[in-house]
Amino acid sequence: MPSPLVVQKFGGSSVAGADRIKRVARRIARERAAGHDLVVVVSAMGDTTDELLGLAAGITEDPDPRELDVLLATGEHQSATLVSMALHAIGVSAISLSGPQAGITTDGTYGRARIAGIEPRRVRTELEGGKVVIVAGFQGQSATSAIDQEITTLGRGGSDTTAVALAAALQADRCQIFTDVRGIFTADPRLVPMARQLPIVGYEEMLELAHQGAQVMQVRAVELGWINDIVIEVLSSFEDAPGTLIKEDPLVEQRNKVRGLAHDRNVAKVTVVAVPDRPGIARAIFDPLAAAGVNIDLIVQNVGHGGETDLSFTVPQVELGKAKKTLDPVVRELGARELTTDASVAKVSIVGAGLHNAPGYAARMFGTLADAGVNIEMISTSEVRITCMIAEDELETALRALHEAFELERPEPIEVAAAG
Ligand code: ASP
Ligand code: MG
Repeated sequence: MPSPLVVQKFGGSSVAGADRIKRVARRIARERAAGHDLVVVVSAMGDTTDELLGLAAGITEDPDPRELDVLLATGEHQSATLVSMALHAIGVSAISLSGPQAGITTDGTYGRARIAGIEPRRVRTELEGGKVVIVAGFQGQSATSAIDQEITTLGRGGSDTTAVALAAALQADRCQIFTDVRGIFTADPRLVPMARQLPIVGYEEMLELAHQGAQVMQVRAVELGWINDIVIEVLSSFEDAPGTLIKEDPLVEQRNKVRGLAHDRNVAKVTVVAVPDRPGIARAIFDPLAAAGVNIDLIVQNVGHGGETDLSFTVPQVELGKAKKTLDPVVRELGARELTTDASVAKVSIVGAGLHNAPGYAARMFGTLADAGVNIEMISTSEVRITCMIAEDELETALRALHEAFELERPEPIEVAAAG
């Protein structure tokens, strides 16, 4: 019978420097000694990717996307080779492979390529030869008729996606994401002292938590896990503690409907003040924003008064400049009074599978914020989330009040193995 196969991914902070790389090697050695076959995916050391981007920016404002991807991929080459050397030094047989060597092919979109396929023949051969296989994360090789055999990168945080994709392609028994936090929490523990680690979180819930700024895993990696039914374990590379399992949750009916809180400070509010209230206005505003690639989130249009209305929406803070530049001429053309912006806002969300068929949660959220003296400026909902936009300096107050109101500090029912 073949040994169980484990895919482990170590993030940038886990391999930042020689000591940490040696520690990672010892952890891998332990797993190996337990009789597992191992594929290890690594990110670039520490802030290497940012530093490489900085080097390119020092040369030109507008680096060639092909050359930039070749440059960025070297960050992961460094850590993969060093982890492999660290394993050799403690007597563990290992080999590092680049993304292309590991058989990862992508489309031709430099900077945020999507994985098209994995043919992990080389990985399997090395595993059969008794080696631990270290794969450089975040990269692959294009395989399209237009752009062929070029090195591509998978977007920031892309090593998570490498790990989950390899776990799917190799039908691994486990996929572990080692990071600098212990797992997924009911809220950001730096803001909410009562926050508790979750033993399990569903894929859909995790997607909302990730989208909303719980930056533990790349969103695409969670999606890939969901589609391929890969159980993903998020855990700390710095302590031996149980992590959080991301998987389909069989107990979802019995659990607290609100699984956790997410928040996002990096948003800004844009308001088009006193715009004529007639058909076509929303299109006139949002078409050019879409064309400029500005991501719109919450939208509120006030009830018209005297033939005019105010229209507000949120954009990521980094896209505020682009949104303003796009809208200035539009606002003039439409005859709106003015364009105002506010970057001192934040979004706070309650997240949980089953929120949509559990009435009363929205009311409780709004009531809790009201009691805490927090004004709600905008609201949006999805099947698994309710989001309010509030003033940024009230974020902590809001999070703590919601955490208490939804009893998130209380442990949940434990999953019991099904009998028989
Ligand atoms: N090194 C890349 C980044 O910093 C990929 C990753 O860490 O997953 O985004
Ligand atoms: Mg990451």
